[in-house]
Amino acid sequence: MLFTNKKNSLFRRWNGPLTKDLLQKPAQYGLGKTPEKVTPDATTQSICGFCATGCNLKIHLKNGEAVNLSPETNYPVNMGMACPKGWEALSPLSSPDRATTPLLRNSHGEMEVSSWQNASQEFATRFKEIQSKYGKDSVAFISTGQIPFEEMGLLGAFAKFGMGVSHGDGNTRQCMATSVMAYKQSFGFDAPPYTYQDFEESDVLVFCGANPCIAHPIMWQRVVNNKRDPKIIVVDPRATETAQCATHHYPIKPKADLTLYYALAHCIVRDQRIDHSYLDQHTQGFEEFFEFLTDYAPEKIAPKTGLSVSQIEEFARLVSEPGKRVSFWWTMGINQSYEGVRSAQAIINLCLMTGNIGKPGTGANSITGQCNAMGSRLFSNTTNLLGGHDFKNDRHRQKIADILEIDVEKIPSENSWAYDQIIEGIGNDKIKGLWIIATNTAHSWINQKEFTEKLRSKLEFLVVQDMYATTETAQLADLILPAAGWGEKDGCFINSERRIGTIKAVKRPPGEALSDFRIFRLLAHAYGVGEMFRKWDTPEAVFQILKKCTKGQPCDITGIDSYKTLNKAGGIQWPFPVGTELRGSNQRRLFENGKFYHSNGKARFLFSAPAQKLAEEPCKDYPFILLTGRGTSSQWHTQTRTQSSDVLRKLYPHEVYVEMHPRDAEKIGIKDREKALISSRRGQIYAQVYLAPTMQEGQLFLPMHYREVNQLTHASFDPFSRQPSYKASAVNITAPLS
Ligand code: SF4
Repeated sequence: MLFTNKKNSLFRRWNGPLTKDLLQKPAQYGLGKTPEKVTPDATTQSICGFCATGCNLKIHLKNGEAVNLSPETNYPVNMGMACPKGWEALSPLSSPDRATTPLLRNSHGEMEVSSWQNASQEFATRFKEIQSKYGKDSVAFISTGQIPFEEMGLLGAFAKFGMGVSHGDGNTRQCMATSVMAYKQSFGFDAPPYTYQDFEESDVLVFCGANPCIAHPIMWQRVVNNKRDPKIIVVDPRATETAQCATHHYPIKPKADLTLYYALAHCIVRDQRIDHSYLDQHTQGFEEFFEFLTDYAPEKIAPKTGLSVSQIEEFARLVSEPGKRVSFWWTMGINQSYEGVRSAQAIINLCLMTGNIGKPGTGANSITGQCNAMGSRLFSNTTNLLGGHDFKNDRHRQKIADILEIDVEKIPSENSWAYDQIIEGIGNDKIKGLWIIATNTAHSWINQKEFTEKLRSKLEFLVVQDMYATTETAQLADLILPAAGWGEKDGCFINSERRIGTIKAVKRPPGEALSDFRIFRLLAHAYGVGEMFRKWDTPEAVFQILKKCTKGQPCDITGIDSYKTLNKAGGIQWPFPVGTELRGSNQRRLFENGKFYHSNGKARFLFSAPAQKLAEEPCKDYPFILLTGRGTSSQWHTQTRTQSSDVLRKLYPHEVYVEMHPRDAEKIGIKDREKALISSRRGQIYAQVYLAPTMQEGQLFLPMHYREVNQLTHASFDPFSRQPSYKASAVNITAPLS
């Protein structure tokens, strides 16, 4: 039975602890009302809280608390499979370094235990003081793709409409901003078009800067399930795990991808393999693109890419064979680049010109990273106004104001600063207060040393809200707010193929930790704007509010009446306006009717000349190009959770390691497993060397999960998406005693 006794029903009520002050005066603290009762059962289901694959996990309960889990067999995403992180999803909840009480830095610089009442008052008082001294926009927030979208919506609404803050961004800027912008510009809305069945229905799958074997292992299993004897093409400087399983690996030079995709387009035009009828009916701008491509003959381009002319010709033939279903899939190799948006659009262009979109087994498909990055794209109220709306559009602002029953003047009419601009604002004293929620930015942000120095020396008040008090970011905080994690709260995630599914509270948060949802309500109450969120009193109530915000949008989900419907259906992909019916395998892709979201219904060809050089070129002092990326399928981002699992910890190296080609190592005099010094213009670190013939000479690879890595990375950004380019920094490596 779930939560049957009186104590447990209170746990349901707050998704949080039974501290005395909250117990006595729940209404006064704005904590919300009892949500709908969960049907008593021995198991329940929840979407996994790590990656955006969105596997469904069956959670087994004893006395109302989770004791174990197994992957759900009857769910259209994972079909009974889970990767190591999914199997171990419950372990991080029992970690001894969980934050269990609010902690406040005292005048001696030490962290002291505080009550929620005191912590929430401190939050309000300090941020209000900063706002009255320096202006409303001197406080900003940085959010996450790791919490349910009901929490994101509440956070974004409280910060922007309640606190009056204009600038807030999320860690999704580090992974998905490029795809968002590429889709918006090309299709008219941020809309990944695919369904996972496309992995099984393609004749040719092209993985561009993507390593699904370890980064999205369950998606890779869907590729393995493909019965069409597909060609699998990997474009990556490294011979990654996926490249080793592929039929074709094109080991390009780092950041030669944009040039290469234009060369492919050139060959397809030259060989008259374009789908004219699709182009005429459903696209615009092809004539200009056609002209532009004249400069991209493979003979001219090949030396820039690291591939031969015949490899480029072969690649172009493979992706344009008439009658074949071709799908392109990309992740961080494309997105984390100083020209990522145009690279993603070069892939989109290839799909448009060959008519490989809107049909089974096709598509220009960005694979998302975090479990709810897709939710953040619609509901975080950071880059977009709630529901994929535009802050600058008067009509959109009025629509959202009416739905939320707030004064339209409360809604900013300008876009937020992006993550890097917020950091720049800290550097030049425009931002003096920062609130970071569920992200370990002091580990993950590019050019880490400079960034953490800014946090330390420039901010007057830093609040970190997290499951752990021990993260690199939490250690810098003035106030730590202890948050419940996945498994300790309710809400919804949206996975990479746009499928909305629910997560459930199956464990009590430790100590006095509260769900982020309850923390936001508590803080809104302390800020004096609790009344604005009177109706936002349970996650499902917020779901209903956010649902209304999507009405008439491409992401319209007004046809989903409740969490119960989502659970019964096996998740539902957006769009799902009123009147939509689920049919067959519950798999839906976009653009089957050839209609895109621009006002004329056509997709756009967008392009511009690639940069002539890397953002940071190798030189005499820093002759290597540093690549970063996922290490193993057992590691997740900055490892705040995966390092808490005894099982996962056994599956990856504990110390930071660097992969390098054996010939490079021999030249420098470095042996396998020795510790070498790696340096860039920004810092230096030691790492254990793994000799890896999978590397190209002149390149090094560091997994991103280790705290040292971003001391080396070079801060350059895509001009359209403002996503940082983590993938190509100039570094040197030297033997231990040199
Ligand atoms: Fe969870 Fe992603 Fe692993 Fe599935 S593939 S179990 S969603 S981490």
